[in-house]
Amino acid sequence: MPEATPFLEVADLVAGYRRGLPILHGVSMHVSSGEIVTVIGPNGAGKSTLIKAVAGLVIVESGSITLGERSLLGTAPDRLGAFGLSYVPQTANIFTTLSVSQNLALAARRCRSEPEARIAAMFDLFPALAERRAVRGGGLSGGQRQVLAIAMALVAEPEIILMDEPTAGLSPKASQDVLDLVRKIAGEGVSVLLVEQNARMALGVSDRAYILADGQNQMDGPAGDILDDPAVGEIYLGGRRKGAA
Ligand code: ADP
Ligand code: MG
Repeated sequence: MPEATPFLEVADLVAGYRRGLPILHGVSMHVSSGEIVTVIGPNGAGKSTLIKAVAGLVIVESGSITLGERSLLGTAPDRLGAFGLSYVPQTANIFTTLSVSQNLALAARRCRSEPEARIAAMFDLFPALAERRAVRGGGLSGGQRQVLAIAMALVAEPEIILMDEPTAGLSPKASQDVLDLVRKIAGEGVSVLLVEQNARMALGVSDRAYILADGQNQMDGPAGDILDDPAVGEIYLGGRRKGAA
């Protein structure tokens, strides 16, 4: 089957936090429509920097970032929603002093359709949030907070969501729930770019994956191939796969 046209495309990206001291040294990757793509790699590899570059939050020295036909370079982060892109940061991704409903209402204020209807749609999609609509963000469990953060990204009807380690700090059960949710989101036609430390679990729900190390592409391919590659398992997935021959 021929691969779909890239929707988000990053090419030869040199980017970082200070001009002349790049963290990413020419990274290329793409996400096609409806795809779940995971970026894995050791701590400090530049995974968050890559996602932040797409979200307009770091300095891009050269290379390109395009969404559909549009270049994202120089776009203010608060304009990205209008282009169909939502970003779920790794931390501080909800307002702890506001209720679940208030968090969603804030996130929905720039959405393209009727905010009330979108919030109702989120409560249908995430019954656990509906039950807790009056609970303050700070009163949610870690897993519920991540679900709220994801719902806040989805409420704006994005075509692509960027998520930075949505399972960080969660129990294996809560992590699996969050990743199942990612599948559900992609099932609705939203593309997902996922960064994960929880590599094995993330690859299990992904279509394709990229391995980054030292700010450079190391490897990419179908998620299943990456999972089954013995060398990748040893180096990047914390040893042999359980039950593998
Ligand atoms: P990963 O997400 O793969 O663990 P990061 O993209 O967060 O890696 O970090 C890549 C490199 O960028 C690291 O060397 C890190 O120290 C550096 N870095 C991350 N955030 C900042 C920042 N705000 N300012 C300067 N350097 C940073
Ligand atoms: Mg990171």
